[in-house]
Amino acid sequence: MTAKITLRKGDITTDAVDAIVNAANNSLLGGGGVDGAIHRAAGPELLAECRALGGCETGDAKITKGYRLPAAHVIHTVGPIYHDGRHGEPELLASAYRRCIEVAAANGCARVGFPAISTGVYGYPLAAAAEIALTTVDAALTDHPEVVEARFWLFNGLAFGAFERALVQLGRQQN
Ligand code: ADP
Repeated sequence: MTAKITLRKGDITTDAVDAIVNAANNSLLGGGGVDGAIHRAAGPELLAECRALGGCETGDAKITKGYRLPAAHVIHTVGPIYHDGRHGEPELLASAYRRCIEVAAANGCARVGFPAISTGVYGYPLAAAAEIALTTVDAALTDHPEVVEARFWLFNGLAFGAFERALVQLGRQQN
């Protein structure tokens, strides 16, 4: 089966995929942005499970159940805070995406929804983040064929446009 990368506009918490990815912080104890939206929609049981995980390194990922979310699981990852791009940010962002696909594959999650990790409060420039996201996920899907779809949820037109352009550069049509 050919792995697919697809783009959606809107709220990732509505997606009934096998796992949605949370752009969390190192504590995994909740925050603003997509993290806050996911915890609100999942309910307090999610925070309780997260407490037992003992945090997460930047560039790594950990899985929990999805509780009241339509998605069965949440894969919590921590992207880098963007400084100037010379502090390991590209490698850490790529690592976050790669680890999410690895964790999805290890847990039988065939379809995964991603937000644009690090592009909110963490300040990663959209065009650069989109290119890293798509090239990294494309390669990781090839390495883990049990994951058949990565669906990027872009919260506004600016983010959607950046990912659309990066997808064209990757030589794929949006589907
Ligand atoms: P980070 O701290 O990794 O930058 P943020 O949550 O601040 O994480 O932002 C990551 C991206 O997620 C941003 O592009 C933001 O617009 C987007 N976002 C925020 N809420 C949602 C949501 N409910 N669904 C999908 N994307 C969201």
